[in-house]
Amino acid sequence: MANVDLKNLTLADLEAFIAGQGKERFRARQIFKWIYQQGVTDFASMTNLSREFRAELAAAARVSDLQPEVVEVSTDGTRKYLFRLEDGARVESVLIPDEGRNTLCISSQVGCAMACEFCLTGTFRFTRNLTTAEIVNQVCSVKRDADIRNIVFMGMGEPLANLDNVVPAIKVLIDNDGLQFSNRRVTVSTSGLVPELDILGASVTVNLAVSLNATTDELRDRIMPVNRRYPLKELLAACKRFPLPSRRYITFEYVLIRDLNDTLDDARRLVKLVSDIPCKINLIAFNEHEGCSFRAPTQEAIDRFHKYLLDKHFTVITRASRGGDISAACGQLKGRLESAQGSTL
Ligand code: SAH
Ligand code: SF4
Repeated sequence: MANVDLKNLTLADLEAFIAGQGKERFRARQIFKWIYQQGVTDFASMTNLSREFRAELAAAARVSDLQPEVVEVSTDGTRKYLFRLEDGARVESVLIPDEGRNTLCISSQVGCAMACEFCLTGTFRFTRNLTTAEIVNQVCSVKRDADIRNIVFMGMGEPLANLDNVVPAIKVLIDNDGLQFSNRRVTVSTSGLVPELDILGASVTVNLAVSLNATTDELRDRIMPVNRRYPLKELLAACKRFPLPSRRYITFEYVLIRDLNDTLDDARRLVKLVSDIPCKINLIAFNEHEGCSFRAPTQEAIDRFHKYLLDKHFTVITRASRGGDISAACGQLKGRLESAQGSTL
């Protein structure tokens, strides 16, 4: 029966599937284009395939789709899309406009098992991995609304804990016959799963962001339990050997938390840690939320930290917090409906 969701397949997978149906290999490319370039979800519309083939496909496969349940719009233009999945689980994607260059932040899991102390997603239990189709469909759905220039895996979940679905999804995103994103415009963000970092690098060429957030193993062990398995030294060695797209640098993300990791000593240690890795540093002011007693840093502490890194000739960006009024900012996603009333479209 209609059971294989073609949105779960890379082009290579689809070619194998089509070959299994006894059809020519190039048919897969035609179907892939219908799905990702025309946004078609019914086989009847795939008019360059024979009527019989379309009927056979309709019997053996389907093309899933996601419609947002709610879209919230922030006063700063950030949009949060809440999706309800087939089993009732919910995930969020956030579209961040920036002078016409929109970035879409997508989720890779329902919840997250990494339990970082500062992250609201991490305070909810891990429910399940998203399928390849569910990851890709966040992009397909938002693409109907807006031009997307960059994609970042910085929504709910730890993408490297779901490589089986994240890697095929990236392949669909960057395939020339698929969603046609440049691999320089797709970024995976991780809390630091070292073996999976190596697997990701060997599987696909993509940008990497690593959430560092602490400059000593002592503090990182506490606020990011993953560090107890893969301490800073191992993580930074994995960063160093990661094969990036050409002319790209790793991004280190650093959430500044008041009186915890926002001093000049922290900045000095950070410089030492990453000094031999070509990188950019993204500073993010901690976003306060009900799941955590940490506080946002003062503007003075942010400026001091930022300036120290600049003086050491780093490329540093202090990311303006976006979408805070609709709980769409970093670390505020929880995929629940109760907070999603209000300014719906
Ligand atoms: N799991 C991945 C990607 C999702 S989290 C990762 O950890 O990298 C995306 C970013 O949000 C990470 O850099 C994380 O450090 C940051 N973040 C989490 N909670 C936050 C909060 N409360 N305020 C600001 N940034 C936060
Ligand atoms: Fe998971 Fe990333 Fe949040 Fe840590 S910061 S709990 S890895 S989503």
